[in-house]
Amino acid sequence: MQIAMVQDKIVPVEQLDPAYFDRGLYFGDGVYEVLRSYNGKIFGLDEHIERLANSLAAIEITGIDVKEIRGRVQEAFDTAKVPNVKIYFHVTRGSALRSHGWDNSLKPNFFMLISDLEEDPELKAKGVAVSVYPDIRWKRCDIKSLNLLPNVLAQQDATRKGCFEAIFLNDAGFITEGSSSAFFQIFGRTVHTTPLSKSILPSITRKFVLKAAANVGLEIVEKSIMPNQLKAVDELLLGTTTKDVIPVVEFDGQTIRDGRPGKYTKQLIEEFRLFTV
Ligand code: PLP
Repeated sequence: MQIAMVQDKIVPVEQLDPAYFDRGLYFGDGVYEVLRSYNGKIFGLDEHIERLANSLAAIEITGIDVKEIRGRVQEAFDTAKVPNVKIYFHVTRGSALRSHGWDNSLKPNFFMLISDLEEDPELKAKGVAVSVYPDIRWKRCDIKSLNLLPNVLAQQDATRKGCFEAIFLNDAGFITEGSSSAFFQIFGRTVHTTPLSKSILPSITRKFVLKAAANVGLEIVEKSIMPNQLKAVDELLLGTTTKDVIPVVEFDGQTIRDGRPGKYTKQLIEEFRLFTV
């Protein structure tokens, strides 16, 4: 016997959309990607598909041909015929009656949404403020999983404080990354960022920012730092797919230098742009 209720209506279980049984909904049992296009071309498609393959393997979702997913992304993008879009998609383990363990015969569910990308030039021109939030996430932040409650809570806290993004601090007080971005600190001519590990997402933007930094002759140090070390920092910036490089001019209530985007950040924005044409 099974009875379902959706909002205030009793619904025969046989008539329920399988989406109601999606394990992504019950357990966050799935992985996702966010990509963007610049002027009619998807940016970093191979990198995103490679990360997807790693995320799927890490949570043992099998039976997905990532080459086929790549084709779907391209097909939907070609159908949209809009030059600058955000592409979101997820793959969940499938739909089944709620039970923690899964049956290997489950068929994964796929969902994609392509939407217009609204650019806000002010963000790059003026920079943004960030707040801090405890990194209460699990120990596999390298997997781009649908379990995003800590990220959601962190972002809401930042918004409440009038900030653009929340920067996570781990239990030892070190900066890990943003709630939906990679985070970089520039001291003199050296760019610092958290090293890749299971504690952060291998951000695609991070990879290209480091490439841009090398191209403009900046040194790169992959080492985590603590907020008190930011007293000596010259510039801060964050990186995320939908917005690429954004200068950060205020950290946890402290204005950075003159409160304006720094010169190397501007160079990185320009250098990054070259990757996108
Ligand atoms: N770190 C986290 C936790 C994220 O959620 C994201 C993106 O959403 C990033 C970093 C940036 O990753 P990417 O550059 O691949 O968009």
